[in-house]
Amino acid sequence: QNLKATVLEPENMLVTLTVLSVVLGIFIGLLTRLALPGERAKMLIGFPGELLMNMLKMLIIPLIVSSLISGLSSLDAKSSGKMGSCALLYYFSTTIAAVILGIILVVTIHPGSSEIKKSGNQGEKVLARRMPSTLDSFLDLFRNMFPENLIEACFKQVATETVDVNQTYLNKTTNTTEWMMVESSKVTSLWSTNVLGLVSFSIFFGIIIGQMGDQALLMVQFFNIMNDIIMRMVKIIMWYSPIGIFFLIASKILLIKDLTTTAQSLGLYMITVILGLIIHSCLTLSVSFFVMTRKNPLTFFRGIFQAWITALGTASSAATLPITFRCLEENNGVDKRVTRFVLPIGATVNMDGTALYEAVASIFIAQVNDIPLNFSQIIIVSLTATLAAIGAASVPSAGLVTMVLVLSAVGLPTDDISLILAVDWLLDRMRTSINVVGDAFGAGIVDHFCRGELQKQDAEAAAEAREA
Ligand code: ASP
Repeated sequence: QNLKATVLEPENMLVTLTVLSVVLGIFIGLLTRLALPGERAKMLIGFPGELLMNMLKMLIIPLIVSSLISGLSSLDAKSSGKMGSCALLYYFSTTIAAVILGIILVVTIHPGSSEIKKSGNQGEKVLARRMPSTLDSFLDLFRNMFPENLIEACFKQVATETVDVNQTYLNKTTNTTEWMMVESSKVTSLWSTNVLGLVSFSIFFGIIIGQMGDQALLMVQFFNIMNDIIMRMVKIIMWYSPIGIFFLIASKILLIKDLTTTAQSLGLYMITVILGLIIHSCLTLSVSFFVMTRKNPLTFFRGIFQAWITALGTASSAATLPITFRCLEENNGVDKRVTRFVLPIGATVNMDGTALYEAVASIFIAQVNDIPLNFSQIIIVSLTATLAAIGAASVPSAGLVTMVLVLSAVGLPTDDISLILAVDWLLDRMRTSINVVGDAFGAGIVDHFCRGELQKQDAEAAAEAREA
């Protein structure tokens, strides 16, 4: 009786439905492959998933702007300073830990052999165009952070390499990775929000509003209400997510050209990345969460399960952001001031999965080309992989694009990104889900450390209100 009641609880029912949708999506996707569906059928199967992506994406800009502004305006300088430094320290240390783990694994397992290239699994030379230098990419990060035009920031990302690479993708329509290229070309046309620019503007705006006190009360209320409206929209969209995820996964499986050949030649590489992601989440993230908060990481993970699966389905931490918000606030009881402040920043700059992936993939490419990397080159790989993960947009395949930065920093052939393109549909999902888990655990840790500060602030506000 009790079990039945628990399963029928709305939150649990949603999780059950989402798990079912993943399993069924894989099954139906594999089954439909046998029927050799045409292009139109494939497009139609992907359509409900495309709608889910659109629904989530339409919330991103208002959600990020309203949550950061309302979050920061409700915090005093001391609390926001403590929260910000705590979050940044966590982001930086876990990202570096992920990169180091990736390097250790790829050097030990050594998945790359020159046979892979000889066997003709070369994809196409998709990235031969004008490549930005490491310095360019580094400066682009800051250019994105301070967009010259806020409206344009909502539409266009400044990073030149994103545009270059995708234009190249768009021009190529022939080989096994065709669908991947088409998807990535969409990344530019549909997904070119400069989220980093919006984040930095909103932080700035929120801090100033907070300092203005009563004078800006109306504005604070405006963004608070806007945030509440968006979260109500999320609540409704979440019920559509199992359907969307089912079709997203089924259509992805349909679109892969050759499941077995790519799995055979790139199997060890995929295992290395996936093993790294599992170790990072089970060891680094969970253990650090437990050590710092003394709370059970498994219980915490259960609360964010829906967000984790949504990240697997959408391959985008930005699209998952609305769900992550809801899971943390409703299921894990994380203070809204914490989620509103740290989650949008985390989703934009904290990408442990991407950092680990960048390190593994670039050393894999060195191994395939028989280019031994010395110690100082490995250090450069780890630093640029961290930078590339910070700079990657939270959209599908973004990590693949910023990998150009890592490869060119140590003089590896950027063309060889095409080698790993065929399996990126899967690895992208996996690394995105760990990016989201990292953001969520980070919010949990910040919440734990700043709770006292926030309670003090609440008590002071209550005392002031009584006096008034
Ligand atoms: N898709 C990832 C994300 O949204 C970024 C990446 O491609 O690594 O977090």
